[in-house]
Amino acid sequence: MSGKTIEEALRGASFSLREAGVDHPRDEAEFMLASISGLPRLTLFLERGCNLPAETAALYRDAVRRRCRGEPLAYISGVKEFYGLDFAVNCHVLVPRPETEGIVEAVLEWISVTGGTGTGPIDTVDLGTGSGNLAITLARLLPRARFRAVDRSPAALQIASSNAVRHAVQSRIQWHHGDYFKAFTGIEPWPRFNLVVSNPPYIKTSDLAELPASVRCYEPRLALDGGNDGLDGYRSLLRDLPAYAAKPCFMALEVGAGQAEAVTALCRELGFFRLLSQRLDYQGIPRVVTGLA
Ligand code: GLN
Repeated sequence: MSGKTIEEALRGASFSLREAGVDHPRDEAEFMLASISGLPRLTLFLERGCNLPAETAALYRDAVRRRCRGEPLAYISGVKEFYGLDFAVNCHVLVPRPETEGIVEAVLEWISVTGGTGTGPIDTVDLGTGSGNLAITLARLLPRARFRAVDRSPAALQIASSNAVRHAVQSRIQWHHGDYFKAFTGIEPWPRFNLVVSNPPYIKTSDLAELPASVRCYEPRLALDGGNDGLDGYRSLLRDLPAYAAKPCFMALEVGAGQAEAVTALCRELGFFRLLSQRLDYQGIPRVVTGLA
C-alpha cells in the first residue's frame, strides 16, 4: 500500500472489508485509518490526495487484515465509546455495548425520581466490571458516589483501572478480584451498598457455539458464559445481595433478550425488593431489570 494516497488506501480497504462481509466498509475503513494515523476523519477527507507514510500504510494494512478475519473493530483500534466516554479495551474484556447504557439511565432515573440517598454518599458496586465502563461512567456522573468494582479476571481489572486513570476517577474506585459479592469475603468493615449494577455473562453455554465468530472467537468466554440456562450469574449475585445491601438499595441488572421475566422471577423469589421493573433497550427489548429495596 506504500506510495498510495489516503483516498486510494481507503478505497482498497473498503473493498477488502466489503468482500469480507463487513456491514459498513467505508465507514470502518475511515475509522481505522483515523485511529491509526491519529488524524480526524475530516482531515483524512481534506488531505485525501496526499500520500500515506509507509509506516502508517503498513499498520493500516495489518489492521484491515485483522478486521477482515472477523476481529472486533474495538480490539483493533483499542478503544470503544460508551455513554460518550472512550474506554481502552483488549481481548481480556467484553466490548461495551450500547444496550448496557440502559443501566446508566436506570440509575439516573432512580436518583431523579426517588432522590437516591439524599445528601449522603452512594456506596456503589459494579459486579463483573470488565473494562470498567459502568463504574467509571457512573463515577463521572455521580460525584457523591463511592465505588467498588469486581472482576474474576485480573487482566480485566488492570485495563479497568487504567480507564479510571484516563477518566480521573481512580481515587474513587476500589478494585476487587473475585466472584461477585464473594470478592468481599474477609473485608473489614463489611461493605454495604446503596447501588448495585451488573451486566453478568448471560449466554447459555449451549448457545455459545452459535454466537457470531466476531464474538465467539475474540471476546472472553468468562464475560459471556452464563451457565446451563444463562442465569448462573444472577443467581449468584442475588443470593448474596441482601447481606451486602444498605438502605436504600437500588439494583440494575442487564439481561439477555428473553431473560427479563426469568430474572424478575428470581428477584421476586428473594422477597427482598419492594419494587421491581424492567426497562426496554433501543430495540424495544426488555434489557434491564431494576429492583428497589
Ligand atoms: N461490565 C462490563 C460491561 O457491561 C463487562 C460485562 C461482562 O464482562 N459481562 O460491558
